[in-house]
Amino acid sequence: MKSPTVTFLGGVREIGGNKILIEDGPDRILFDFGPSFSPQFEEYYVDYLRPRSTSPAKDLLEFGLIPRVNGLYAREALADADLEYAPPEIHGIFVSHAHADHAGYLDLVDPEIPVYVGAGTREMMTAIETSTAMRYGEHAYRTFADRAPIHIGRLEVVPYPVDHSIPFAYGFIVRTSEGSLVYSGDFRHHGPRADDTHAFFRAAAAEKPQALLIEGTRAGPDPRRNFSEEGVRAAVDGLLARHRSLVLACTYPRDIDRLVTLYGAARRADRSLVISPRTAHLLATIGPRFGRDGFPLPGAAEGLVVYERKKKRNFNWEKPFLDEAISADEVRREGSRYLLALDLLHFPELIDLRPPPGAPFIHSMSEPFTEDDVDDRVMHNWLDHFHLSFHQFHASGHASAAELYELVRAVRAERVYPIHTEHPEAFEAEVPGVHPPELGVPYPIGAAPGR
Ligand SMILES: [Zn+2]
Repeated sequence: MKSPTVTFLGGVREIGGNKILIEDGPDRILFDFGPSFSPQFEEYYVDYLRPRSTSPAKDLLEFGLIPRVNGLYAREALADADLEYAPPEIHGIFVSHAHADHAGYLDLVDPEIPVYVGAGTREMMTAIETSTAMRYGEHAYRTFADRAPIHIGRLEVVPYPVDHSIPFAYGFIVRTSEGSLVYSGDFRHHGPRADDTHAFFRAAAAEKPQALLIEGTRAGPDPRRNFSEEGVRAAVDGLLARHRSLVLACTYPRDIDRLVTLYGAARRADRSLVISPRTAHLLATIGPRFGRDGFPLPGAAEGLVVYERKKKRNFNWEKPFLDEAISADEVRREGSRYLLALDLLHFPELIDLRPPPGAPFIHSMSEPFTEDDVDDRVMHNWLDHFHLSFHQFHASGHASAAELYELVRAVRAERVYPIHTEHPEAFEAEVPGVHPPELGVPYPIGAAPGR
C-alpha cells in the first residue's frame, strides 16, 4: 500500500492560493482553493483584465494559474479547455476561511464535490454572494463545528478555530493511516481570538505530527509597522480625543474585528460609527454569532448608522438599512458626531463630504508592499487634494516571523512545509526540518525518508 501523501498545488512561494491535496489510498481531499495575491498572478490578470466567464478554467490553465487535476473542475468551468471533464475524484474540499485567496476559485469546482466550511464562514459567504459580484458556485456544503472531527474514508480532519483578520478562520489536524499532519491556515495571535490560536498550537504539539504546513506571510523581510488589535484601538482612541472634526477611516470590508474596534472607539468618543449598507448587511448576517456586548449590530446597537450614497438604484439587500440612513449633507454638517468608515471605492463621496482641511484619515489596512503601488498613489492624491492628515493604524492578520518560528519549534513536527509565503527559505535558518515545498510534488506522510 502506498504511503499517504501531501501535494502542494498552490501557495508555493506565493502569498495566498493555497491548494493542498492529501491522498490516503483511494481517499483524496483538498484544503483551500483560491487565487494567489502574488505578482505571478498579476502578470496576466489585473482589475480590468479577467478570465472570460465563458471559459474561466481555460484562461487560468493557460498560464498555470490553477492546477491540472482530473475530477476536480465543474463541467461548465472546463468549457473549451484542453482538460477533459471527469466525474469527481476529490472527496471533499475544506475551506480554512472566507478570504478570496482561500475560497475564491470554488466557482470552478464540480458541484458534486462536498465543500466543508465553518458554520460562520458559510454565513459570511452567503452575505458576500448576496452583496457583491463574488460567486462561489453551487456546492454540497457541509458545515463543521469547532474541534468536531470529520471522517472521509480513512482520513480524519479536526478543525480548530484560530485568530485571523476574518472571523471563523480555522487550522486543521489531519490524521492519515500513517501519521498526522497539521495545516495552520492563516493565523495570528495578536487579535481578540489569540487564545484560539494558542489552543490550536497546543493541540498540534500534542499530536506529535509528521508534518506541519505553516503559513509564512510575514517570514523574510517585513519593514511594515504592525499593531495588535488593542494597539489599533488605543491609537484610534487617542486620535479621536485630539480631534473635533469629522474623522474618516478605511478598512477591509470583512475585517469584523476592526469594525468592532472602530465602533468601540467611536462610542467612547461619543461619536457614531458610519458604515456602508454592504458592511451593515454583513454585520447583520453574522451578528447573531457574536455577543451583543460591543458588537455593532445594525438595528440594535446604539451609535451605529448607515451611510447612503446617491445612486441610480438600490439593491434589495440594501433597502432594510436605508430608512434611517444618513447622507453626505448630514455628515458634512455634523462631522464631529461621526467616525465615517469609508471604502476606498467610495472616495468620490469626499467631493460631497468636504471634510475640513487637516481632518484625520485612518488607513486601517496593510501598507503597500512596493513603493510604486498605483492604488496607494491614487489614494494619497485624493487625501492631498482634500488636505486630510494620514494615519496608518493596522493589525495584520498574520503572525510575525519571530512568532512563526517559535510556534514551529513548539510543535516539533518531523517536517515543516512553509507555504503562503514568498520566503519559505527564511524558515531554514531558524528551525529544523524545513522543506520548502515544490509545486506538484507528492511528499509522503509516514516513514519520512531522508530527513
Ligand atoms: Zn491567505
